[in-house]
Amino acid sequence: MTAIHAIRSKRVVTPEGVRPATVHLSGGLIEAVAGYDDVPSGKGVYDAGKCVVMPGLVDTHVHINEPGRTEWEGFETGTRAAAAGGVTTLIDMPLNSIPATTTVAALEAKRAAAGGKCSVNVGFWGGVVPGNAGELSALCGAGVFGFKCFLVPSGVPEFAHVNEDDLRAALPILAALDAPLLVHSELPGPIEKAHKKLAKSDPTRYANWLASRPASAENEAVRMMIRLAREFNARVHIVHVSSQLSAPLIRRAKKEGVRITAETCPHYLFFGARSIGNRRTEYKCAPPIRDSRNNKALWNALDKGAIDFIVSDHSPSPPAMKCLDTGDFFKSWGGISSLQLGLPAIWTKMKRGNDSLAQLASWMCGGPAKLAGLDKQKGAIGPGYDADLVVWNPEKRFTVRPKMLHHRHKLTPYANRELRGVVVATFLYGEMIYDRGRFSGTPQGALLRRGKR
Ligand SMILES: [Zn+2]
Repeated sequence: MTAIHAIRSKRVVTPEGVRPATVHLSGGLIEAVAGYDDVPSGKGVYDAGKCVVMPGLVDTHVHINEPGRTEWEGFETGTRAAAAGGVTTLIDMPLNSIPATTTVAALEAKRAAAGGKCSVNVGFWGGVVPGNAGELSALCGAGVFGFKCFLVPSGVPEFAHVNEDDLRAALPILAALDAPLLVHSELPGPIEKAHKKLAKSDPTRYANWLASRPASAENEAVRMMIRLAREFNARVHIVHVSSQLSAPLIRRAKKEGVRITAETCPHYLFFGARSIGNRRTEYKCAPPIRDSRNNKALWNALDKGAIDFIVSDHSPSPPAMKCLDTGDFFKSWGGISSLQLGLPAIWTKMKRGNDSLAQLASWMCGGPAKLAGLDKQKGAIGPGYDADLVVWNPEKRFTVRPKMLHHRHKLTPYANRELRGVVVATFLYGEMIYDRGRFSGTPQGALLRRGKR
């Protein structure tokens, strides 16, 4: 492998804007962002031509599921898919693996399982579950980036959801640690009510699944989390916002100084409920994909900063668990597989203007890096930042074919869609790890710890 000393392109996405530049690399870091013609002599210059050079994506919402449910997704397959999608850092969610990451011993089991298998950098969220408040400090000390909890059943028995009393035990501890709490924000009340009404309805109709997870469940949960974030002066992050009505609540809370942030996911921005066919359970996730008018409002919320960034919520399962044979939305596993496709999915739907590349980098690189406290080392192209980079062609289109996906399972609602934006090469600490469909070298991804470089 030739050592790369510099990457040049007509379009380098820097915090000051998109411009022709040569990015000088040294010791795995970005040494300087120099003029386009300021190229080091000799070998080791990667010329990206007109392709975009952007920070590698940071995806803070990924379910890897190893150990324990490695047949759903594992570190090897998941991180290869990430590399092929231009994602250079991912933070693994604490559930769907066994054990769930709710104790230090479980975190160490996850690290042991991940060791030597990761093509990109991997960090871990811890979990807040009923009764584990006593573990949170130690988990933080052991390097988790923050914590995740559910307010409704999570889908797996070993990761129980919390109620307000549990949150009241956890939040003062998290506030003292200055660790964010990532919240699956749907409350059981409105969902149970909706389920009662739908008891005899056809489970293969998407409209019934959508009706069973009303926006009010999310909006009420967001209200509760704003109230608790304010009371405890804690950092709260709303994961996968799906309802436009959550956005004004979050915007107002931010204005009032509440320490709240929010994300949404490509599937809420890309798809609309009306185009989802009955029995098409590859689209099932919770909260559900809503109508296109709602989803347009989510774009608007991103533009206005009510929603901070976009991450995948890659949450696959073996295809059999998606119940494609019966098409039963209520029995199907809820989770969408998309880690490799986030960048082109979002780019395909973005308005392309002068600032759109910078906007994209803020939504998919800098924003998520900030949530994890990695924003001084990842998510931007500037001196001293890690040389984790993606080179991609924003004009080129491709059709998603299962065989090009590196996820463990190829089932995805993006199958056969034409997307715009092709990842050409991915660099990790200055080494090219992915080049036009090929992976190079052994997996070199670091296992990241909060507060350590
Ligand atoms: Zn998730």
